Amino acid sequence: MNLEALIPEYVRGFQAYVPSKPDHLLMREYGASMLHRLNNNENPLGPPPAAARVIAAFPPERAAIYPSGDSYDLRQSLGARLGIAADRVLVGNGSCEVISSVIKAFCQPGDNIVTADKTFAVYEWVAEFSGIEARLTPLRDYAFDPQAMLDRIDRHTKILFVCNPNNPTGTYWTQRMLVDFLEQAGEDRIVVVDEAYREYIDDPEYPDTIGLMERFPNLVVFRTFSKMYALAGLRVGYLAGTEAVVEVVRRTSVAYSVNVQAQQAALAALEDDREHIAATRTLVREGMRLVVDACRDLELETVGGAGNYLMIRTPINDMLMYRRLMKRGMMVRTMTGFRFPGWIRVTLREIPVMASFAAILAEEVHAIRNQRVPA
Ligand SMILES: *Cc1c(COP(=O)(O)O)cnc(C)c1O
Repeated sequence: MNLEALIPEYVRGFQAYVPSKPDHLLMREYGASMLHRLNNNENPLGPPPAAARVIAAFPPERAAIYPSGDSYDLRQSLGARLGIAADRVLVGNGSCEVISSVIKAFCQPGDNIVTADKTFAVYEWVAEFSGIEARLTPLRDYAFDPQAMLDRIDRHTKILFVCNPNNPTGTYWTQRMLVDFLEQAGEDRIVVVDEAYREYIDDPEYPDTIGLMERFPNLVVFRTFSKMYALAGLRVGYLAGTEAVVEVVRRTSVAYSVNVQAQQAALAALEDDREHIAATRTLVREGMRLVVDACRDLELETVGGAGNYLMIRTPINDMLMYRRLMKRGMMVRTMTGFRFPGWIRVTLREIPVMASFAAILAEEVHAIRNQRVPA
């Protein structure tokens, strides 16, 4: 069998993403007796109480029955919450699935997408393994640079992806900046704004993307239940757009991809989120303050702001720092893969975990400086 001959060129050259190993294997490998997950921006509070109850009470016989193929009830609820028709919402198996649906819906080989070089990499990856050129623009002061993106647009540009706030830098565009960008980008291409962390932001200047769709019908927004709503393990995210755009994206989406329990839990989470969001924001704010102060004392540079994460510049290679922290039970995200070599990203969690992280980080940094390990 000539397997190579079967593979499209753009797949042949593409390297699969390697997910981290299960926690129990990592603990054995690093000799850690426990592991605090500071690597995936998960919410340690767990889902809102109503969602937790739905998950705990899930009837086993329901597992035998297919889910709603288009997340009907959840879309009704999301539509009501957003003040738009349910048909303007498309639910996916995590927002990663809707990224793929949008690219398949609008791009063919020869087309391109434009996004930043140091951002959530799934836009770039899906484009590349689909044979679509990903045009990457440098950040400016750690933020998406609107002019750099506009400069890369040509007649083959189908989608512009803006991660707002940006993962991993925590910067975001305001309503004004987004409106300026949309005006200049023109209507002949889709502008996707990924708002995976929007619920962490309490700022009147943060864009009202749903409201802007009337003026800019090419605008599409992504949201997820993985972060604030703490349902990452159930995989549920969605996009919202105009009726016409969503109708097109639905053609390239897999029906029945969102399981019953995920749909039910997301629905319940949405209806019980007030106190949950307030409590999570407080936890993140306090955790941020603690870690930023600790890094200042250690003279380590940090970059962060919006979202439940913070980047820290490490005195040694990020992979070496990761290994040192793993041995101490702290799992962080190395940033070389995000094109930030020498940085780690830390998820902000409850104070006791952050205090323990700060103490371990200080010990490791002191040890490194005393050994004068080369950077
Ligand atoms: C975590 C994250 C997502 C969410 O992915 P899901 O597939 O919904 O879990 C999307 N975009 C960004 C920027 C993220 O950080």
